[in-house]
Amino acid sequence: MTELFSLSPEAAEPHLRVAQRSLERLRTVPALAGRYTDHDKTLTLDDVAALPPLMKDDLNVALAHLQPKAERSATWLFQSGGSTGAPKVGYAPTGFYMAGVHAHWQPLDRDDVFVNVWGAGRMWGAHFLAAALADLSGCQIIALGSVTKDEYADWLAFFAAREVTAIGGTPSVLRLWFAAARAAGLQLPALRKVLWLGEAWQSQLEEDMAVVAPNARRWGMFGSTETWVVGTNTPDCPDDTFHTLPEQLVHVGPGELLDFTTLNPEMLNPVLRYQTGDAGRLVSCPCGRPGVAMQVLGRRDSVVQVRGLGLHVDDIIAQVEREPGVSRAQILITEQRGRVATVDVLLLTAQGAEVDVERLRRELLSATFTLSTGFVHDPESVQVRAVDALISNDRTGKTSNFVIREES
Ligand SMILES: [Zn+2]
Repeated sequence: MTELFSLSPEAAEPHLRVAQRSLERLRTVPALAGRYTDHDKTLTLDDVAALPPLMKDDLNVALAHLQPKAERSATWLFQSGGSTGAPKVGYAPTGFYMAGVHAHWQPLDRDDVFVNVWGAGRMWGAHFLAAALADLSGCQIIALGSVTKDEYADWLAFFAAREVTAIGGTPSVLRLWFAAARAAGLQLPALRKVLWLGEAWQSQLEEDMAVVAPNARRWGMFGSTETWVVGTNTPDCPDDTFHTLPEQLVHVGPGELLDFTTLNPEMLNPVLRYQTGDAGRLVSCPCGRPGVAMQVLGRRDSVVQVRGLGLHVDDIIAQVEREPGVSRAQILITEQRGRVATVDVLLLTAQGAEVDVERLRRELLSATFTLSTGFVHDPESVQVRAVDALISNDRTGKTSNFVIREES
């Protein structure tokens, strides 16, 4: 299939008045008005495709000016955009648009006992969004949030005793739960559903799930704090493929960059050709559900400049994670006075696994042009090492594929 929009003109165009309203609001933002001079109508999909895309910072600028308010509920402020620095703010009404999600996707039902391990607080959205979905499902909710390392064992015993049937969190956090259960030899035979959102799925999770909770299957959501949930999948779909909601218009732009336009009249963020940095394509899903689905191909902003050359972070991570015994990898780039001093590939290894880090390092150096060329005079500045924990962003709760640190 070569569709560029997730919806046909017939399905989308009656709802483009929402896009038109977003356009009119964006045109009132002094810093953005200029770029919309030649655009005053979004009546057709062609009109949408002709609009300039919005980036994260643009949306933050627009929201700072518009300060939207929900019509019939509280207006919640959530962290939006930027992995560093002060939080930028996105807005949502109570309910977090989950009624539209629940209409098409019901992973939970009244008999479920659902543990919500998305972090609550710090203006994070996912915990509350999942709670809204559970509310619509009428199940039991255990609102756990994040816990510290020493607390896993007690909570896992509690899950087993309560016959927990569902758990939801970011894949990085779920990894910790299942790895802790596996290491403790604990099983959760009643657990059937694993809900996830916030990062790409991790295949190592599947291995731990097979041991800890052999009946558990994954149920994924794709979205961001700006767009909210865009699409969902089921255990029958590939983990990178999502069925998009009719209130989300997804467009594939140049370079396979995805952009999103809301068709939901309640949406507070003026999401109009908004680019999250994710690349993707529209496909038919092997699960057999008709219509186009969105396959996410990863982030296009995963290329980091290292000594004047582009380092393809995701490629390196994928190569290293294929190594037996490596469960997860992360690249730590240390800068001194703005120049990249060292590149460390950090490995989280499976319990008892012996990984030949020196061989891996030699292979990476010879196979990666940016590393072999950029570090030709100081190859010792590229290291591979096993660590106890990868570096998480305390603010967003995410573990990204690369971290840049400034050292004085
Ligand atoms: Zn599917």
